[in-house]
Amino acid sequence: MPPQPAFYVTTPIYYISGTPHIGHAYTSIAADVLARTARAHGPARALTGTDEHGQKVANAAAAAEMTPQQYVDSLAPTWRELAPAFDAKFDDFVRTTEPRHQRACLALFERMREAGDVYEGVYEGWYCTHDETFWPEAKLVDGRCPNPECRRPVQWLSEKNWFFKLSKYNQPLLDLFRGDPDFLRPQSRYNEMMAILEEGLEDFSISRSSFDWGIPLPGGGVLYVWYDALISYISGLGWPDDPDGLYAGFWPGMHLIGKEIARFHTIIWPAMLMSAGLPIPKRVFAHGWITSDSGTKIGKSLGNAMDPFAMKAEFGADSLRYFLMREAPFGSDFSISMEKLRQRHNSDLGNDLGNLLRRSLAMLQQYRNGLVPQPTEGRVQERVADLPALVNEHVMCLRFREALDEIWNLVTLLNRAIDEQKPWELYKHGRGVELDALLYDLCEGLRWLSLLLFPYMPSKATEIWHQLGLEGTPELPWDEELVWGRLAAGTQTNPGAPLFPRIDPPAA
Ligand SMILES: [Zn+2]
Repeated sequence: MPPQPAFYVTTPIYYISGTPHIGHAYTSIAADVLARTARAHGPARALTGTDEHGQKVANAAAAAEMTPQQYVDSLAPTWRELAPAFDAKFDDFVRTTEPRHQRACLALFERMREAGDVYEGVYEGWYCTHDETFWPEAKLVDGRCPNPECRRPVQWLSEKNWFFKLSKYNQPLLDLFRGDPDFLRPQSRYNEMMAILEEGLEDFSISRSSFDWGIPLPGGGVLYVWYDALISYISGLGWPDDPDGLYAGFWPGMHLIGKEIARFHTIIWPAMLMSAGLPIPKRVFAHGWITSDSGTKIGKSLGNAMDPFAMKAEFGADSLRYFLMREAPFGSDFSISMEKLRQRHNSDLGNDLGNLLRRSLAMLQQYRNGLVPQPTEGRVQERVADLPALVNEHVMCLRFREALDEIWNLVTLLNRAIDEQKPWELYKHGRGVELDALLYDLCEGLRWLSLLLFPYMPSKATEIWHQLGLEGTPELPWDEELVWGRLAAGTQTNPGAPLFPRIDPPAA
């Protein structure tokens, strides 16, 4: 595989009011799988963080009798813990209240003003505080917020604001979408945004003057919270303070988002960058929503079925990561339940993968004192030659499930080799050469699985690595490591505890 250019992926900068739910964990895990796969081929960075301004935060702070800064400081730790709790490794965490971010916002605003794209006007219209979004009268549904997930009352605002000439970028955005259909995936979101572009864009208010919890602008008012939050994707790379550093090395990157925020990320954000003369993101991928499976009984002790921390407590981070990436194509909605998690945990992970490791190492222990035999002409080798490239391509195209299907073909192949070749009979009949060939294939196949599964299940993949008697972690370059036969003969394996102990449903 040729080396890949520096890779950069972001989660949305999570709105700090509220608590992390399974959807946030899902996006962070997907970004982590991407970044870990990319790191196996070259430099890669992943960014997450919190969006801390806006009227909703100011209101919540007032209700809690805190200053807005005290309020966001009290919430930020919960969000910082989200990624590590699920073994997701980010290189940076941006808070939009940080000075480095505020400098970037003001610098971008200035560039857009120099381009003649920012002007003062009076904004009159309807505002949904919950979504921090202005809505034109015609879009309201029964006088309420048109977001189907919201439908809250809207308030009439009339204030002097800064406007961005978004309409000027209508045609360039149409050209972008038509010229690169992969700019926004999946297709359903692309079609939605194309419809908005074809209907025509109106100029867009990018400041607020009726409250002050935001990044202050020279001459009064604060930046609109969405305008501010989007800029974190480059402030998190040190723009504009250090344009030759991370920004030059990693921008433009890829954004993972929930489908409800596609308009901000694929229309407003690229237009802001075009205006400022900066490159637009390479790709935006809007994933689907996770719903709870209401027909299924949830364990009593677990409370909220959608609490990712409760799911992790029951199944472990790796099992939950695997489920989320395997259960549905990325981009589709799907439902989650403890029963579904339990099924995948016991079947895919316990029976298929866990037993493969346990059986293989137990036989090696019994027949060869746990020592890896000499490599011989492998039967598995030719079957896996294309596997690393295929898995990498699937992941880079956000086909996480398909990548896992390919990896599982190797799991199945190795399990079948045991069932068909019956090593216990080979041993009994003294067919040592065949037995060695099989045992080598199993150990080397497991080493490949450890490397390929590391992005999905970093700690379990590392356990496989250690049980094989290897040191360090499988966070290694695929080009060098996914070469059949690298596992040295004579390696002393080290069988350990079962990888995925069975989890039974709670007693009725
Ligand atoms: Zn709303």
